[in-house]
Amino acid sequence: MLYKVLKKGSYDLFLAKLIADFEFIGPVKKDKATHDFKKISDIRKLDVNYKRTTIAPAKKILYPSTETLLQYEINEDIEMSVDYEAGEKILFGIDACDVNGLNFLDRFFSDEMIDEPYFSKRRKLTVIGLDRMPSDTNFSLSLGKEYAKDGFDLFLTDLNNRYFVRVGSEKGNDILTKYADVSDAGEDDFKDYNKFMDTYRKSFKLKADINNLYDNYELIYNNKDFWNRVAKDCYSCGSCCLVCPTCFCFNVRDDMELNLKKGAKTREWDSCMIPEYGLVAGGHNFRPDKENRLKQRYRCKLKTFIDRFGTYSCVGCGRCIEACLAKINIAEDINAVKKEVSV
Ligand code: SF4
Ligand code: SF4
Repeated sequence: MLYKVLKKGSYDLFLAKLIADFEFIGPVKKDKATHDFKKISDIRKLDVNYKRTTIAPAKKILYPSTETLLQYEINEDIEMSVDYEAGEKILFGIDACDVNGLNFLDRFFSDEMIDEPYFSKRRKLTVIGLDRMPSDTNFSLSLGKEYAKDGFDLFLTDLNNRYFVRVGSEKGNDILTKYADVSDAGEDDFKDYNKFMDTYRKSFKLKADINNLYDNYELIYNNKDFWNRVAKDCYSCGSCCLVCPTCFCFNVRDDMELNLKKGAKTREWDSCMIPEYGLVAGGHNFRPDKENRLKQRYRCKLKTFIDRFGTYSCVGCGRCIEACLAKINIAEDINAVKKEVSV
């Protein structure tokens, strides 16, 4: 890893040059309370001071909510064509836990096979992260996801009069060399960076006691009373999955023209929290109850991928907490498991 320093005065020019030369996606104010990651062609639209977690996760750039996987035409043979969107893009301003969200999806979409629709875009995406103070619902510190070690090309930390820049890839280094006026980071820069990180880590208000959850989950798994209490207000709306930067479930739809000669396969985000998710041909539903769906979601987030990849599939961003109309709070539920097995 290389460490550089970018002067505050050079920051706007650096970004303006990137906006001029690339498709540049960054945080834009959507309404009073929320931001969204959108294509920016004017630096004045960029607003990195988003305190509240942006609801739509940046994963939508690589894994859109609806995407045509292939089109086909049936003649004597079946002809198939694919057309994945894959231009060079810069994604600017995502924080550490969202970079960790992308790291998880990178791992998931390359586990048993390479998911080409995802990676055709990922290979051409330059990620420039930016440290920012956590929102009230962010508990990524408890999961060790508040700091991103990799998965980005450049990562900027605001040290008031300058930016501390971590260079995570050759591509990041090339961009800095071509577009920015930087110098090597020295001892004082590291000292100030450490101070920032200490303050940042002390700013997390929401904490989840995740220690022993892996083991405790087995004890709590068949405790019906507990899950009835935790899920009692759930509307089964699926919003928690839709806003999650690591949820990956999708459904594949076939659309055929009336002549049965041409068609397309499309994938769409799905949610394990909605009743139809477990419905199979013949009308059987493997998870008809909201209590079972919620406990399965938590298991997927907090246990399954410890076994598969050695990591949680939750980065603690807090989006699901903000999106839930029933005020179901995954961090509080993690703490409730500990309490329940301790009494
Ligand atoms: S937990 Fe909340 S957001 Fe998720 S399905 Fe239930 S009501 Fe909807
Ligand atoms: S489960 Fe909730 S807190 Fe965890 S990554 Fe998904 S949206 Fe963020």
